[in-house]
Amino acid sequence: MTVPAEDPIPAPSGDRPVLTVSLPAVASNWRTLREAAPHAEVAAVVKADAYGIGLPPIAAKLKTLGCATFFVATLDEGRSLRSLVGAPPRIFVLNGLPPGAAGAFAAHALTPVLGCLAEIREWADAGRRPAAVHIDTGMSRAGLSPDELAALAGDTALLARLDIALILSHLACGDEAAHPANRTQLSRFKAALARLPAAPASLAASGGVFLGPEYHFDLVRPGIALYGGNPLTAAPNPVRSTVMLTADVLGVRTIACGETAGYGGTFAATRETRLAVCNIGYADGIPRALSNRGVAYIGETPCPYAGRVSMDLLTLDVTAVPSHAIGRGAQVEIIGPHMSLEDMAARAGTVNYEILTGLGNRFTRVALDSHWTRVV
Ligand SMILES: *Cc1c(COP(=O)(O)O)cnc(C)c1O
Repeated sequence: MTVPAEDPIPAPSGDRPVLTVSLPAVASNWRTLREAAPHAEVAAVVKADAYGIGLPPIAAKLKTLGCATFFVATLDEGRSLRSLVGAPPRIFVLNGLPPGAAGAFAAHALTPVLGCLAEIREWADAGRRPAAVHIDTGMSRAGLSPDELAALAGDTALLARLDIALILSHLACGDEAAHPANRTQLSRFKAALARLPAAPASLAASGGVFLGPEYHFDLVRPGIALYGGNPLTAAPNPVRSTVMLTADVLGVRTIACGETAGYGGTFAATRETRLAVCNIGYADGIPRALSNRGVAYIGETPCPYAGRVSMDLLTLDVTAVPSHAIGRGAQVEIIGPHMSLEDMAARAGTVNYEILTGLGNRFTRVALDSHWTRVV
């Protein structure tokens, strides 16, 4: 059997859910961040495929907006980004330098964020190229420990072989403005800077941008806020949402009181109930934890998830939707103006970051150059 390289018949709309990103909303968030940190350079964190949204349109838009510095997590992501944006934007790779990778970093003009002495030595041995140095100020994740910082600060020969483009640290509680850990990390970061040769500094991710100018230093590195996720846990969202996820109704059925729906029969109808089955499931990143907890929207009507989320299908209780407004091919808002990332995350017991980056690979992805008015 031969398989044609390209199917000449386009996929019908309605076969796959649609993930739409509003590029003007991304641009608006970029401006909000620049206004919030007017004296710092705003860099863009585009790791994990621009937080699951899809790197190509986001990278192109940010470049157009004047973004000159990007952060990714891995060498591979850095390579993809470099091929999208070309030179000269700076690309920092947060996860640092894997053993033996210095040549690949140099070949793609990628700058590692060095997180331990072993990485620093390996990078220095490969030649004097720019690098960022990550200092652990209390997150105990990446970055030089206090001992390693002392060793580096005392090693003038090693420092002479380093071209430090950025010294950074990361806040553990930057989403909570009043958390005392922020001030502790701030003072430890200042102390670390005082021990190292003068270099541009960066402490704030999205949350840190909204902690005030003390936290901005020379460069801020927002990710989630660019994409419209609220970076603050207990405050209104300072940015606007950028994504909308819609699915399609495959069919509608009515079940009698007492009948159940879905695996495990965890939804039992307490009255005659109309159900709509939609073309989206946990393989698309809809958390199974939303079983009987999630809510989608058809038009203005909330439609509770009925029973367990399954791999490819989601069943909604659409009893409240007027029957003329529901049927095969009807559009369902899974994420959008009525169901924010934050609301969905709260219902699933997780965070907006995990919802966004967990979105799957089966969507039709649309990048809008204009604001959407009404898609559902
Ligand atoms: C992911 C990440 C960021 C961006 O964080 P947001 O909260 O999405 O703004 C910044 N710095 C580091 C070190 C990161 O790992």
